[in-house]
Amino acid sequence: MISIPSEFFNRRFFHETFGKRVIHVEAPHLSKNQLENHLRKYNSTCYCITPVNYDYVRKNLGCSLSKKEFHAFLKEFYSSIKRKGINLQLHVHISQELGKVPFSTKRKLIGGAYNFFKDELKITPKEIVYGWTSFDDDCINISKSLGLKSVTYKHFHIYDFWLKQSKPYHNRSVDSRQKMVSKIARGKILDIGFADNPNYYLRGEVTGIDMKKTSTPNNYSKCIVGNFNSLINSKIKESFDAVTALEFIEHIENPSEFFRNCKKFLKRGGILILTTPTPYYWRTILGNLAYPKGRATIIPHLHDFIPRILNNVAMSEGFEVVDVKNVNSKIPFVNWQLLYVYKKK
Ligand SMILES: [Zn+2]
Repeated sequence: MISIPSEFFNRRFFHETFGKRVIHVEAPHLSKNQLENHLRKYNSTCYCITPVNYDYVRKNLGCSLSKKEFHAFLKEFYSSIKRKGINLQLHVHISQELGKVPFSTKRKLIGGAYNFFKDELKITPKEIVYGWTSFDDDCINISKSLGLKSVTYKHFHIYDFWLKQSKPYHNRSVDSRQKMVSKIARGKILDIGFADNPNYYLRGEVTGIDMKKTSTPNNYSKCIVGNFNSLINSKIKESFDAVTALEFIEHIENPSEFFRNCKKFLKRGGILILTTPTPYYWRTILGNLAYPKGRATIIPHLHDFIPRILNNVAMSEGFEVVDVKNVNSKIPFVNWQLLYVYKKK
């Protein structure tokens, strides 16, 4: 049998192995102690989020602090790790669509972060890393005028929230699948298993349901804590235009039951939108060959659906297959998630 470390199939492997000395600090409110321990152990450079990115942190990393509290918290936390000799530099999220951002906004964000360091932490930062490695000439020029060197290459790094056992999941693939789903789902929407990654792109009347308790995202009208299987007899039966369940079905025991229950939530003609990993992703194919005995510790999935088989299950439960789309890449084998759209007959 070929011997490849199983972590090879984990996207984070290289960063976690080689990136320990560079940290992107996104969620110090979650990772505080772990972060501090790690910094001391590896003497890492910290590229730090600042209060200018409060909205980004609140939306993506579940921050319940007010803007003022967040500012005060960052000031205190960064000051304390600065005293321990940690090298702090700037991390600023501008936008993933820079073309739509006016120059003045870029200046406000970068300048604001710089001033926070100068005024509140008494640090003159030397470097800046842009969130999502999304930057343009404006960003570089603004930074340069403040004496900051822009780090414009993708360096190996880890995120502070990776240091925690339960990691909020922040990356482009979450973003791309959520955007795709939000373009399809309309009207009254039920979002199943939303708590780890609320979909801030959804528009309409959104109800979230999850076993985990979490605060209600801004664009959701209601959140229910519990198992969606147990809700069927309640008032919300057959009341939804759309049901969405992203990266969910591979975790549950009974996919047929899942379709049956989703059908009960939907109005006639309502749509069900799922995303789930594709078995044709190259790492999965290699992993399947290398680990026929299975390793439940890599990712706790119970299923990996061949599209034709998943569609069979859906059809046998009374759905029509509307669409199957790649989420991450147009190229099969590079793409690792599929989006399925079904319609209740
Ligand atoms: Zn970031």
